[in-house]
Amino acid sequence: MAAHDVPAVAVRRLTKTYPGGVEAVKDLDFDVAPGEVFGLLGPNGAGKSTTIGMLTTTIAPTSGGAALAGYDVVRRPLQARAVSSVVFQEPVVDRGLSGRANLELHARLWGVDGAAIGELAGALGVEEILDRPVGGYSGGQRRRLEIARALVSRPRVLFLDEPTVGLDPRIRLELLDVIAGLRARDGMTIVLTTHYLEEAERLCDRVAIVHAGEIVALDTPAALLAGLGGELLELRIDGEVPVALAALGARGLAAGEALVVGSTVTIPLRDATAGDAIAALDRAGLTVVAVNSRRPALDDVYLRLTGAGLPAAA
Ligand code: ADP
Repeated sequence: MAAHDVPAVAVRRLTKTYPGGVEAVKDLDFDVAPGEVFGLLGPNGAGKSTTIGMLTTTIAPTSGGAALAGYDVVRRPLQARAVSSVVFQEPVVDRGLSGRANLELHARLWGVDGAAIGELAGALGVEEILDRPVGGYSGGQRRRLEIARALVSRPRVLFLDEPTVGLDPRIRLELLDVIAGLRARDGMTIVLTTHYLEEAERLCDRVAIVHAGEIVALDTPAALLAGLGGELLELRIDGEVPVALAALGARGLAAGEALVVGSTVTIPLRDATAGDAIAALDRAGLTVVAVNSRRPALDDVYLRLTGAGLPAAA
């Protein structure tokens, strides 16, 4: 097989059961192509960090396996680590050292030429602060430095575990631009975990929705959204929701696909109109208190697949 045919990340039946019996990751299967930005999306406890831990050789799989650029993470962990880098949620940079000293130290550890440090710092937007102690950096600056550090070893695959968690919304958006820029600049393969839908939609070529350790959907954000049609209708109902679902279903209004949160029923509109839905409910003696139509978002996909909502993006 030619090198460019080897997936950047190949995951086969990857499983982790923690001592005590928590099945954190169950039978995951996916490939990530070279140059792809791939998202693992799911709420806290879904198994995302455990998956990243196994792919970066810090957590031993219970069964199944994975390979990075063809290197098996269990049998050839050194090679797998040599072609990849990871930015975990917890900072690893030394707060007492300057940004530059942190990057130079990491370059020496990896035996790579430190000459590219200035250029990397520029790409990550930390050039100006590089000679200050990291202890004085803001959260967003430190996260950028962490990413620069991860890139010193010129990885083919970069893992980012919740890259924007704990950052305020403006800094988050800036960081997303930086990550998108890395991909555009280097064609690097990026695997990121997030529980922010908007982050996954914005950055990822494909998204795996993870729920209770399993992938419940895997596709491009556009294809995941297309499954819900072009438009969703939200109806807040005064009355019994099951009666409303039956009334909508009887008129062929996609009641089987309805998402229910409290007294709000959301249905894909497809060929019907809001008027059709309101008329159907009216005939069943139900009052519609509020009506809203909107485009579907990934959280609708998530809700439909798992019956549970994701936390709203900050
Ligand atoms: P996520 O990153 O999506 O929040 P995690 O991979 O951290 O999910 O956790 C998945 C599940 O495994 C959770 O139920 C969590 O409590 C459990 N878990 C994670 N780490 C450990 C551990 N070291 N020992 C036991 N259970 C763990």
